[in-house]
Amino acid sequence: MTEQLDLAALIRDVPDFPTEGIVFKDVMPLIADPAAFRETVDRLAAWAGPRAPDLILGAEARGFIFGGALAYALGCGFVTARKPGKLPWETIEARYDLEYGTDSLEVHVDAVTPGARVIVLDDVLATGGTAGAKIELVERLGGVVVGALFVIELTFLHGRDRIAGTDVHALIAY
Ligand code: AMP
Repeated sequence: MTEQLDLAALIRDVPDFPTEGIVFKDVMPLIADPAAFRETVDRLAAWAGPRAPDLILGAEARGFIFGGALAYALGCGFVTARKPGKLPWETIEARYDLEYGTDSLEVHVDAVTPGARVIVLDDVLATGGTAGAKIELVERLGGVVVGALFVIELTFLHGRDRIAGTDVHALIAY
């Protein structure tokens, strides 16, 4: 077995961004590094593959980067959850609280067909509000959430509690 790269070494802490008191986990150095980005996607795929998803659902913006690559690696589809007003077709919306502020996400009404197996993906699991909204949207469309997958989990924010009942995995926990 080859030695695993230290992915955490390529995640930059940015104190007081976007507001005072938040330590922002910046994954830009990780995705800029070819070997680390590939290994990140490979590790996401190793967890997601056995759950046999039909779709990966990612929210903008960093969820698109990891989600698109993961869907390609698994040979499944990718669907987007976006901020209100961005999607061109008919949508449904879910509101949620963030670690900093409140927001809402929309998906196309035909993004998930009933019975589709979906993994919701994001770069960071913080309070779990975003993931909870994505899970709600998938379930309202009749999809089955077969996992919630993250590159980073901020365990002290207890996001898992907010999405209890969902199979959760993160590559790196703080
Ligand atoms: P939450 O809904 O609180 O779980 O927050 C998750 C979303 O907010 C993800 O899309 C993250 O990209 C972003 N986010 C929240 N907190 C942080 C943080 N400390 N560092 C980087 N991104 C964060």
